[in-house]
Amino acid sequence: MANIIDGKVISAQIKDEVKEKVAKLKEEGREVCLAVIQVGDDPASTVYVGNKKKACEYCGIRSESYEIPGDTTEDELIALIEKLNADTAVNGILVQLPLPKHINEDRVIMSIDPAKDVDGFSVNSVGSLCIGRKGYRSCTPAGIIELLKRSNIEIAGKECVVIGRSNIVGKPMALMMLQENATVTITHSKTVDLPSVTRRADILIVAIGKPRMITSEYVKEGAVVIDVGIHRDENNKLCGDVDYADVAEKCSYITPVPGGVGPMTIAMLMHNCVEGA
Ligand code: NDP
Repeated sequence: MANIIDGKVISAQIKDEVKEKVAKLKEEGREVCLAVIQVGDDPASTVYVGNKKKACEYCGIRSESYEIPGDTTEDELIALIEKLNADTAVNGILVQLPLPKHINEDRVIMSIDPAKDVDGFSVNSVGSLCIGRKGYRSCTPAGIIELLKRSNIEIAGKECVVIGRSNIVGKPMALMMLQENATVTITHSKTVDLPSVTRRADILIVAIGKPRMITSEYVKEGAVVIDVGIHRDENNKLCGDVDYADVAEKCSYITPVPGGVGPMTIAMLMHNCVEGA
């Protein structure tokens, strides 16, 4: 049976480290402040935003909340972001995604000052990652690197397969693993014979968005399996992209859902806020 990588414990460590840094900055008279913008009242977004605000409170980061109506125009939203860009008291700006359909997400993300892009989604942040410069790192993949390192799992020289090539998980994940000197393969919906590729992986990172799709057939004996997916199954129970019960029998380490990758995303957001300050 696999060792469980406990994202709750590791994310709590990171938040405590952030809390200490925030307290030190406070002693120097500096405050860390995150502005969180939510457009509309999508219930899932409200839960995510609430969790981010709670984490800020725990770490001593001031959060400014902008809950604006779903019919806000793209220009009005960008005007708000520009105001926050100019506000020297604000260190980080986060726009909760997804945005309503009439708003162009790319244009909105691009309007955030790169120095305040704590989500790490802007072209600037992704470009810095790509060429190995300092900059904000996308929180979910950055959290996975922390999970691996703090579990003493060696990355350098290992075969890593990432399933999924989204801009917020798959692609930055692959780049971060490359930066850690893994040999990286990215797979996606057009990959031919996926199991034969994923069975090469010493470290398999799954961000596919399909409940329990990855069974033991996709996994090499003794591999490390990281499950990014989060879903509610037919019984309203949380589950990941990995069939946990099946895969845990075969791999050496695995992240559970819930309590694996999920809590790391917010912890890394807090980390980015304090680094920005
Ligand atoms: P996307 O839907 O944007 O991307 C899914 C990727 O999986 C795509 O690249 C797609 O390929 C690929 N894919 C889909 N079906 C297959 C298939 N049958 N075989 C191989 N590849 C396939 O999802 P995200 O990256 O945004 O998120 C992935 C999962 O992670 C979701 O469950 C999401 O809820 C979760 N998530 C969790 C977070 C957390 O904090 N825990 C944060 C962000 C996401 P193609 O490009 O060809 O379409």
